[in-house]
Amino acid sequence: MTAISPEQERRLLDSVPTGLLIDGRWRQASDGGTLDVSDPSTGEVLLTVASASAADGQDALAAAHAAQASWARTAPRQRAEILRKAFDLVTARTEDFALLMTLEMGKPLADSRAEVAYGAEFLRWFSEQTNRIAGRYQTAPDGAARLLVAKRPVGPCLLITPWNFPLAMGTRKLGPALAAGCTVVFKPAALTPLTSLLLAQTLIEAGVPDGVVNVIPTRHAGAVTGPLIRDPRLRKLSFTGSTEVGQQLIADSAEQVLRVSMELGGNAPLIVFADADLDRALDGAMLAKLRNGGEACTAANRLLVERSVADVFADRLTSRFREHTLGRGTLPDVKIGPLVDAETRDKVERLVDAAVEGGAKVLTGGHKLPGAGYFYEPTVLTDIPAGAEILREEIFGPVAPIIAFDSEDEAVALANETQYGLVAYAFTKDLNRGLRLAERLDAGMIGLNTGIVSNPAAPFGGVKQSGIGREGGLEGIEEYLETRYVGIADPFAEG
Ligand code: NAD
Repeated sequence: MTAISPEQERRLLDSVPTGLLIDGRWRQASDGGTLDVSDPSTGEVLLTVASASAADGQDALAAAHAAQASWARTAPRQRAEILRKAFDLVTARTEDFALLMTLEMGKPLADSRAEVAYGAEFLRWFSEQTNRIAGRYQTAPDGAARLLVAKRPVGPCLLITPWNFPLAMGTRKLGPALAAGCTVVFKPAALTPLTSLLLAQTLIEAGVPDGVVNVIPTRHAGAVTGPLIRDPRLRKLSFTGSTEVGQQLIADSAEQVLRVSMELGGNAPLIVFADADLDRALDGAMLAKLRNGGEACTAANRLLVERSVADVFADRLTSRFREHTLGRGTLPDVKIGPLVDAETRDKVERLVDAAVEGGAKVLTGGHKLPGAGYFYEPTVLTDIPAGAEILREEIFGPVAPIIAFDSEDEAVALANETQYGLVAYAFTKDLNRGLRLAERLDAGMIGLNTGIVSNPAAPFGGVKQSGIGREGGLEGIEEYLETRYVGIADPFAEG
């Protein structure tokens, strides 16, 4: 594969809209505010875009509110066709979306292409779901009254997304919101707004009417979204990001008793039993740990391995980690890009250094790279001190702490020893054990003999402090629908 040329990069960047999208028009921020978007492999600015002010946020909500009634009344098939067209357009521009994500977020092009396929699929999946929104008509138990139960769009939604999957985190919310008939104010992460701006342009091209999708990147997240969350015109908040910010937004949402969906942090265990197919477990661990450079809420944060195979597993994982080339994501053969910014890289460094000071052994990696960019070596650790911060905190980097265990009960206890509950992975050939684990592990999603669970047809989401609600699957659209009940007098009772 040939490297991407600087001219190709510049041409793509020059084609990205740099304004705010409000009521179908691209415009600058009302206070002239801007936001620099940087390349994490060099630290250099790629592009400067508008940064919404609180007044722009108000305009975006006003536009979404004004467009709500007519969008809710569009024929389901019309919404389906717009979403399907958006899927086609995003898919046709796979290379542009992939390169843009690699430039602003850092992940290798192969990871970015996989994200385009995954992210676009939410537009197609929910285009199909649009036509299946249905209620029921029921006779009351006394045989007299009739009960009509209808599904209605919730109303204008605020969508807030993180930087780690710049396309898919947006489409996972936009797909169901638009399918349900909701209008939106979409605030992408300040580190990676470019993919969302290109997506917004694509949605307009697909036929989304003015005011239905409003996009407001901003450097002032709290100041812009706070007043929207307290505004009675807003009916729903869907947030993906850290548990800490999610908790604050839930508290803020209490004022208007706003409906909320929360996709928050994770601390996934990946359990390997001695009876597992070790090759498959290694493949799964590589995927669950190093996909997206470890910057995923679903990343395996703790590798629990049955003691009799722990050493061989650690050795083989170490060899695989050493084969992973670190570098700028646009270069051929690079398997791991930089971390998204200095703060993220420094947190990884701090967690590893503290574990090593406490007695952990480094089998490979363990350092950041000197020079420009936020690179951290793929790292394998063993002999982690009990209670180490690295086992409690989301690492969000390419670091695999391996912990040996002696029994299924111990593995389950260790796995569940976290306030998070997004995903848990388990590798075993024993079917009953697999099914037992699927019931015993505290997580919204369980990967059995697989290192990846994300699928547009599956309900993605967590328990405990990992969140509220589900995205994708048959369940995803429910987050954007209200249930309305109409009580009807007995149609057979005359006069
Ligand atoms: P973050 O919480 O810092 O930011 C997420 C989004 O919230 C960004 O758009 C940010 O600008 C915005 N934000 C920050 N403070 C805000 C405030 N006071 N008011 C309103 N908006 C605010 O998280 P991040 O660093 O961008 O992303 C990493 C986190 O996201 C990790 O914890 C990861 O586990 C989580 N995540 C979860 C899922 C999931 O589906 N469960 C998926 C991806 C990422």
